Amino acid sequence: MADTLIKVDLKQSPYENAQVHNRWHPDIPMAVWVEPGDEFKLETYDWTGGAIQNNDSAEDVRDVDLSTVHFLSGPVGVRGAEPGDLLVVDLLDIGARDDSLWGFNGFFSKKNGGGFLTEHYPLAQKSIWDFHGMFTSSRHIPGVNFAGLIHPGLIGCLPDAKMLEAWNTREAELIATDPQRVPGLANPPHAATAHMGQLQGELRERAAAEGARTVPPREHGGNCDIKDLSRGSRVYFPVYVNGAGLSVGDLHFSQGDGEITFCGAIEMAGWVHMKVQLIKGGMTKYGIKNPIFKPSPIVPNYKDYLIFEGISVDESGKQHYLDVTVAYRQACLNAIEYLKKFGYSGAQAYSILGTAPVQGHISGVVDVPNACATLWLPTEIFDFDINPNAAGPVKMLDGSIDMPVAPDK
Ligand code: ZN
Repeated sequence: MADTLIKVDLKQSPYENAQVHNRWHPDIPMAVWVEPGDEFKLETYDWTGGAIQNNDSAEDVRDVDLSTVHFLSGPVGVRGAEPGDLLVVDLLDIGARDDSLWGFNGFFSKKNGGGFLTEHYPLAQKSIWDFHGMFTSSRHIPGVNFAGLIHPGLIGCLPDAKMLEAWNTREAELIATDPQRVPGLANPPHAATAHMGQLQGELRERAAAEGARTVPPREHGGNCDIKDLSRGSRVYFPVYVNGAGLSVGDLHFSQGDGEITFCGAIEMAGWVHMKVQLIKGGMTKYGIKNPIFKPSPIVPNYKDYLIFEGISVDESGKQHYLDVTVAYRQACLNAIEYLKKFGYSGAQAYSILGTAPVQGHISGVVDVPNACATLWLPTEIFDFDINPNAAGPVKMLDGSIDMPVAPDK
């Protein structure tokens, strides 16, 4: 049996749990140690540490303090791990907690976080998703029901001091190009809400002031939000510090490629059952700078898709040069317009794209000036036929149910 090495109490503030942290810093002490070959379980908070509640108001999404995220369980020290090794992590299983069989999705206010389509949906909105075993559905979005593809949005090892400095330097340079931008171009260190695990005293104060925020993915993995890095996957992480320092959190019951809604996928508290091994000197042996992984043998078996194309010409008609972000945004907006014909609100359609097992593909990046991105919408997740036909779309929903919205204060 795999022991649960880190436990969390969802009724307790994550700041009171010393086996949790919300910044990346090499001085954060290991919360627990394991041996190569060990199997163990870690419990995790949802990424906001309980800030978002299972109710019918989006005010918590509007008011959330994003400097507090992400609450991670760890770091787990692995005996014998040294800089330059690869840490092999088997995600043997991942699940929701019995006392928390639900998750949330939403979009932040443009003034507090935003999202991929924040220019179109600038206000905070929320949908709650109930878990029925391996399936999920939402009281705020009728007509859709799908199998979970459970994965950690965030997993990775501690950086060393040199790597941390590189992160902070390059991100500060980016912020300096437009410091007043809303939302910001990146998030600098922020000591006031830092949770540095077991670190105490003067060391803690210094580390809190320079600890990297957990928002972006970086060389160590981190907040990659890859839906396919799901239970059953095997991941190979670069190791930068003695003991590796593996941390995990931000569990998702399901997510569409891109996690476009940003708050977030279907976010949940839960547990991860894993096994760790080492490949000594593996970074050089395999030429690895960023993590690599093998996918799970178990994935939701949706075979039929309606695929929306997007090109790098933005909503105003402006031509962009091979810009994949612009192209994917157009593919998403095209899918939303289509789903609205069946009675969904734009917000509901946006939420479906952020939560369902939607695929995003970079289809072409050489045909100047237009990049082409495609969004693959699984048709079998809907209770009704969404395929085009000569008779035209049938409006299946009457608009009486929608996602709660919170006007800006
Ligand atoms: Zn997340």
